[in-house]
Amino acid sequence: IIFQKYCNGATSAAIFGEIICQKLKDPIEQSVYEKTARDLTDEIRSNCESLNGSRSNLEKHILKTLAEEEDFDKYMNYIRNPRDHFKSFIRDEVSRYITDQFSVNVLPKMEENIKLLQQKIMKAAHESTKHVQVKRGDAGLWLKSFTQQLSDVLIFSEKDLSGVKHDDVDDFNLLEDVIRQELTDIMSDISSRFNTKTFPVKLDFKFRPDELLIDHLCQCCWVQCPFCKAICTNTIENHGGDHSVPFHRVTGLRGWCHYKTTHFSTQICTSAVASSIQSFCPNLSDKPVLWRDYRRAGGVYADWSITPDLSEPPYWKWFVCRFQKDLEKYYNNTFEGKGEIPDEWRTHSKQDAFDSLNKYI
Ligand SMILES: [Zn+2]
Ligand SMILES: [Zn+2]
Repeated sequence: IIFQKYCNGATSAAIFGEIICQKLKDPIEQSVYEKTARDLTDEIRSNCESLNGSRSNLEKHILKTLAEEEDFDKYMNYIRNPRDHFKSFIRDEVSRYITDQFSVNVLPKMEENIKLLQQKIMKAAHESTKHVQVKRGDAGLWLKSFTQQLSDVLIFSEKDLSGVKHDDVDDFNLLEDVIRQELTDIMSDISSRFNTKTFPVKLDFKFRPDELLIDHLCQCCWVQCPFCKAICTNTIENHGGDHSVPFHRVTGLRGWCHYKTTHFSTQICTSAVASSIQSFCPNLSDKPVLWRDYRRAGGVYADWSITPDLSEPPYWKWFVCRFQKDLEKYYNNTFEGKGEIPDEWRTHSKQDAFDSLNKYI
């Protein structure tokens, strides 16, 4: 209403341009943030070692990091809530990447995107002016043409300007000049507020690089081995009938014990299924089933393909030795009796554990 008073001739063109730019400010900011987030996601997907491959590759980095940090609580979170652990690992990696790369990579990307968008908007304004001059149209036609040209880059429509009087706008060259000037101010304002903290916050959840990467990397089977809780490594696309994983763990890690004792089981699924004498009880009340015939236990056991393999990877052996006391305290069980840790396990160094990751994953 206040504007109407001044809306005549040149003044009205200037005011109309200012109002358009005010309305464009939020959509511009959103668009720039989203485009930058998409570019960055693509870049992380090709440059970040832990995130540039499959989920199995990611798991290898997770296991490496866990071994480096030697933090028992983190290990247990990974074992018990794998999906949560994967997600928070991805978030940490992305946030570190953004922090490390901000001034050299993220900021220049954003400035480039701002420049491109500014050019697009000015081109749309200029085309609209030409269109109106050819058609001898009015400001309504100008606005229609302008919003249409920007419809694929900005969420902005004529409706956003409904109620703004523009009947007597007739100087379209002036309108363009005003928009050019206002845009420059808006763009530098957006640039100046862009930093490592505002970047993730200003983005809608679904556009955040970490969320895009979680979507990309976590669309897999998450079913865990009924014995050792290792995660099935099949993707949704290549999943046959059975779940499978090449890298099984020590069953004691999820608290399994020898029958009617509090002595941890030190079996590893791949070796146990190669044995012709070892058996397990799916439930305390059930009859024992030979490991070799584990599918006979039915239910979740029947859906797994576990290939016998006696070359036991040192990774989880090293883990058990390193965290023996923590595991005993966590589950209130002990590595005693049949569950005594074999001497051979204690010979493995952390380096052996790392090497086995490269061999198995
Ligand atoms: Zn297993
Ligand atoms: Zn599976």
